[in-house]
Amino acid sequence: MTSIQNATSPSGASATNLDEQDRPFVWIDGELLPKSKAMVSVFDHGLLYGDGVFEGIRVYNGVIFKCQAHLDRIFRNAEQLHMHRQGGSIFGRNADGFPYSKDDIRRVMERCVEANGITDGYIRLVFTRGVGNLGLNPFQCKRPTVICIADEISLYSEAMYKRGMKVIVANRPRTPTVCLDPQLKSLNYLNNILAKVEAIDASPEGAPPEDCILEAIMLAYSEDPSKQVVGECTGDNLFIVKDGQLYTSPLAVPMLDGITRAFIMNELAPSLGMRVIEEPLTLRRVLDADEIFLSGSAAEIIAVRQVDDTAISEGEGPITASLRQGFRAIVTGADIPTD
Ligand code: PMP
Repeated sequence: MTSIQNATSPSGASATNLDEQDRPFVWIDGELLPKSKAMVSVFDHGLLYGDGVFEGIRVYNGVIFKCQAHLDRIFRNAEQLHMHRQGGSIFGRNADGFPYSKDDIRRVMERCVEANGITDGYIRLVFTRGVGNLGLNPFQCKRPTVICIADEISLYSEAMYKRGMKVIVANRPRTPTVCLDPQLKSLNYLNNILAKVEAIDASPEGAPPEDCILEAIMLAYSEDPSKQVVGECTGDNLFIVKDGQLYTSPLAVPMLDGITRAFIMNELAPSLGMRVIEEPLTLRRVLDADEIFLSGSAAEIIAVRQVDDTAISEGEGPITASLRQGFRAIVTGADIPTD
């Protein structure tokens, strides 16, 4: 195991005497480095091939929100990529497992949060395949590179939450599971990025940032367009409200098993006396919804007021508003869950 206890800034600098431009301190493989020194090799397969996994995690009042769920997901995904087989022969047959435990990574995140003086912010955790050669063979990379960045976050304005977002339906469907499972939160996000470009390009010419379209609904791939169902957006899961009832498509559609989605379904909605029904949602049902909202660690819960040319709601609908208020009450309250 790599020592994480001794990971300090090389200069011994603390978060308070950092040059502003050198924030944040970034943890890379056992060292906390100022931003300008936080680099990875050009031979890292994360860069060369998008070969790696990542998480986006929120910190509320110093608590790493849903820490265990994020750790479980990144380790599950790293295993899907066979990262635990690295470190042995070039065929990855003699490996002795991933070089860090979940507890190690939890401590790395805590340390990064503390070193950067973050009380409310965002953590980006990245495991790349590590440094190899120009070939594809992942087992030429002896050790994964682990990166942890803790920083402040400001995603959407309060006005945007109240007003709701405009989104489009991307022409590009979500990658089918047989090709690359969308539950694998890998560094290969081109499917999502190119759908996001479709959204940005659909924004009104010269629009101010608040009028730009920043999300796109991604349909599950089907050879028969009439059978296409709505999975998720480029960086968020999607829920609808119809006649007072909450719905979301099941994970098999396919989509990322969002941690915010699970929190809404299993904890938040029940705490407000609501239940979420999982049913494959056709685009027609989504367009016919009374309310639509998106969920994600970064965006939390945000309303959608328009999909392409179809108006959904006048601003944030009442059920979305009560879920968002409930969410904010939990993450700003005295008892932020530490599970
Ligand atoms: N879908 C995609 C494609 C995502 O990238 C994300 C996270 N940004 C989500 C859904 C939401 O997942 P979570 O709630 O775990 O952040």
